[in-house]
Amino acid sequence: MDDEATTYAEMREEMVARQLAGRGITDTAVLQAFLTVPRELFVPRDLRRNAYDDTPLPIPDKQTISQPYVVAYMLSLLHLQQAERVLEIGTGSGYAAALLSQIVAEVHSVERHTALVNYARKRLQYLGYANVHVHHGDGTLGWAEHAPYNGIIVAAGGPAVPPSLKAQLAVGGRLIMPVGRKHREQWLVYVERRDETTFSEQTYSPVAFVPLVGAEGWQS
Ligand code: SAH
Repeated sequence: MDDEATTYAEMREEMVARQLAGRGITDTAVLQAFLTVPRELFVPRDLRRNAYDDTPLPIPDKQTISQPYVVAYMLSLLHLQQAERVLEIGTGSGYAAALLSQIVAEVHSVERHTALVNYARKRLQYLGYANVHVHHGDGTLGWAEHAPYNGIIVAAGGPAVPPSLKAQLAVGGRLIMPVGRKHREQWLVYVERRDETTFSEQTYSPVAFVPLVGAEGWQS
């Protein structure tokens, strides 16, 4: 390992200790994933030194890679198990998909911007995250081909939980998503599928995500 790589590993450890464990994230699979995925390789080159800052960072197409703590919090709420299949809406940089690949068996991630799809695919492939499949399309409709999912995580804020996503949850499956009437002003909403027709819903903390744009989200 060269000096630079050592420094990033140290920054990563400190981020996990301070921003995640230090704020009450206890899920060991989640913490372990954050310790292994090199966030500096998912941010624009000129922002690498800021990769472990306690903030979201800009990525192409006016999108953002979310603040580490928020991603860790959302992943924790899903209580993911190793054998599970997860759907992510909003691949962005591919960072959260890479984290998921370390926690569960199979990850499907949908992104609407072609350029981001290509970046994320290349990066994930280069880094060897072979259980992640990046799809191009409108994620508000989910990805029916590989449904049902044990977990669904939506990385953009919409006006309501898309019915298509609820329909693609397995019984016992969990979904977490930012919901709000305004762009960049949402609450984290958790949905669990109890049986074929019953869903329980809970609201957690306020968050600020980029808009979920699509047939069951905001209009572009
Ligand atoms: N999880 C990402 C952060 C994503 S930011 C990461 O770790 O980097 C939110 C992403 O959602 C953006 O890339 C945006 O283009 C995407 N997005 C918004 N609406 C979408 C939709 N309907 N389907 C798929 N992706 C969508």
